[in-house]
Amino acid sequence: MATRRTFLQDTAALGAGIMLTQAQTVRAAEEPAYTDKLTDADGKYAAGPLPFAYDALEPVIDARTVELHYNFHHKPAVVAANKAEGGLAKARDSNDFALVKFYEKELAFQLSSHILHTVYWTSVSGKGGQPTGELAKAIDRNFGSYAKFKAQLVAATIAVEASGWGVVGYHPAAGKLMILQCENHQKLTAWGIQPILVLDVFEHAYYLKYQNRRNDYVNQLFSLINWDNATLRMQAASPARRLS
Ligand code: MN
Repeated sequence: MATRRTFLQDTAALGAGIMLTQAQTVRAAEEPAYTDKLTDADGKYAAGPLPFAYDALEPVIDARTVELHYNFHHKPAVVAANKAEGGLAKARDSNDFALVKFYEKELAFQLSSHILHTVYWTSVSGKGGQPTGELAKAIDRNFGSYAKFKAQLVAATIAVEASGWGVVGYHPAAGKLMILQCENHQKLTAWGIQPILVLDVFEHAYYLKYQNRRNDYVNQLFSLINWDNATLRMQAASPARRLS
């Protein structure tokens, strides 16, 4: 199990490596990038290793919650996303699309769960504080100030109806940072947005320690946010960075 420190170093190295392997369209890897690996060598969805020990988020998130969350909420979504794609492949082969609606809905829900959980583990792998540099400037430009940004993000996340996520995303075509509320794993998005920071407010993310106090959990999460990772994600999503 990688420590948080080695994971962050690996993330930076991995990002630079990905930039270099895509060097046909990238002039120089002057800036680190961040790209998640959602699949294995065979193209099947696969959960990456948890980037920290189960107890690394104590006391904000207890070890048992992290263990259950990763093994019994993130990993099963990966299995189910593969199963949905398998069901669709069988439907094509047999030309029997009676269950197409079921499998398409499953794919959207389960794959979105895999995507958002993959981002979430990195979003909470930091030490809090405030964003700096390019991300801080983008927040000021799009939200007025960090204080206003945080107030909206906390309010939006706490107010998610039932189960879902608070999402900070960068939309490359709009050139904007946005805060979205996500219900379940896939609803209320804006197409094309790249999540750079996500806060899981399914009850499985906090109920052992916080019970009904979602407000406390969301506020405590800010001491774990990895702003450097959010910055890398915003940079990686920027078409100017990718196409220059
Ligand atoms: Mn979750």
